[in-house]
Amino acid sequence: MIQKTPVMRICIACRKTYDRTTLIKITKDHKHGISFQKGMGRSAYICKSKKCYSDSKIRKKLQKALKTILKPEFIDIFEKEITSFNDNPNKGI
Ligand SMILES: [Zn+2]
Repeated sequence: MIQKTPVMRICIACRKTYDRTTLIKITKDHKHGISFQKGMGRSAYICKSKKCYSDSKIRKKLQKALKTILKPEFIDIFEKEITSFNDNPNKGI
């Protein structure tokens, strides 16, 4: 059976619901640690709105959603990932 209804997920920053494919997925992968757009494990989604990913409380929100402690350096990696994702939406990371 083909699932035609888009899978909806909530952005952890603005709490709005979006089609999963338009969101950035952050996963706490049990093998590789924090992964973007891939990995298996507890996941959180965030929309591509600058207001959301540059939210000053985003690390806290992610920590709560992923039930993990994120290093301060995480935010740099996170912003880089999102910027490159926005610049090259077809890169397919
Ligand atoms: Zn959002």
